[in-house]
Amino acid sequence: MASVSNRPLTANAGQAMMELIRELYPICRSITGDGVRETLRIVGEHIPLEIREIPTGTQVLDWTVPKEWNIRDAYVKDPGGRKIIDFRRHNLHVASYSVPVRRTVTLAELKQHLFSLPDQPDWIPYRTTYYKEDWAFCASQRVVDSLEEGDYEVCIDSTLAPGALTFGEHVHRGRTDEEVLISCHCCHPSLANDNLSGIALSTLLAEGLKDQETRYTYRFLFIPGTIGSITWLALNEAKTAKIRHGLVAACVGDPGLMTYKKSRRGNAEIDQAVLHVLRQRGGDFEALDFSPYGYDERQYCSPGFNLPVGSLTRTPHGRYPEYHTSADNLELVSAEHLADSLDAYREIFHVLERNRRYRNTHPKGEPQLGKRGLYGPVGGGKSIGASESALLWVLNLSDGEWSLLDIADRAGLRFENVRAAADALEAHGLLERV
Ligand code: ZN
Repeated sequence: MASVSNRPLTANAGQAMMELIRELYPICRSITGDGVRETLRIVGEHIPLEIREIPTGTQVLDWTVPKEWNIRDAYVKDPGGRKIIDFRRHNLHVASYSVPVRRTVTLAELKQHLFSLPDQPDWIPYRTTYYKEDWAFCASQRVVDSLEEGDYEVCIDSTLAPGALTFGEHVHRGRTDEEVLISCHCCHPSLANDNLSGIALSTLLAEGLKDQETRYTYRFLFIPGTIGSITWLALNEAKTAKIRHGLVAACVGDPGLMTYKKSRRGNAEIDQAVLHVLRQRGGDFEALDFSPYGYDERQYCSPGFNLPVGSLTRTPHGRYPEYHTSADNLELVSAEHLADSLDAYREIFHVLERNRRYRNTHPKGEPQLGKRGLYGPVGGGKSIGASESALLWVLNLSDGEWSLLDIADRAGLRFENVRAAADALEAHGLLERV
């Protein structure tokens, strides 16, 4: 019989996330196609996923669901007949959405369809041709530099045809229908930190909520970037009114600092909760104001929705050298950093679940805490402890306007101390919920 592990849940979760990332890494994903389906099938082995297929041509806000792209093989053969670029060795070798091609081209023509990174000569770049029907290969600068004059055979065995856009949705029902939205993109091929880390973290977060009774309903979206969130918003506009808090999860496995990009509102409860948790965890982190560039927060925070959705990452997109290259691989992400990110997300959920407003039932003068056993028996010391300080702050600021998180921030106390004080005061009838 298997023994029950006593290790903290997150240590196991770090390994579980790495295993999931390893399993998903080889799959050639794009914004549509079988790579996304296979990815969602595997995620669906961990959590129940509702899979949606939205037909090509469907009008979604100002966009149209594109043709579906699938690829079986691709290569470039040099004049000697050797495969010098081979999709089967790395799926980044073909620009995503490349149209089918089977031709012989000169070196000059090949180079017009070839991307490389002169500053990182061993890395393969990640490129896409989503919204322009074209084809391209990507290779290391070393390979490109080695090419000699002559005729090259190029083959891309792909299809770009009417089909569907696929996305996955998992909902954990809470006591209320007010929602927390967690969104991650699942449209990148073999890239570990940018896309797979977010998928793995979202999966483990959702798995961790199983059998838990929560106040909020949690909605997890596994969607292709941009077109996926636009599609979801177009199909679910009525549901957006229920979204109270949201986070876009991406780039959560690298060794960099935690980075929080605030919602467009900038002062939403999610912004406050994330920053409180990052401060109380200690250590450095970075807080960025909203900008209309990045991941799907751009869509959730477009002015017609303006949802309270921020993005919590480690190193943000575009700010690490391996970003969108073959070096964003299994070595860049670790169980340790994934688990640390997961911890932060769980602490944020914890704060959101318990944050609320109260009204002091004895607001004229301080109620006498000593006779209720709430205050330490020994007086006269120079200062009071955090728990007694929390009692006084909660009583003073609980006028129905200040939330526990507001109080914790203003008093410089940990949310947990403030919440414990509120529980004790409520139990003695000194607070009532607003
Ligand atoms: Zn990306």
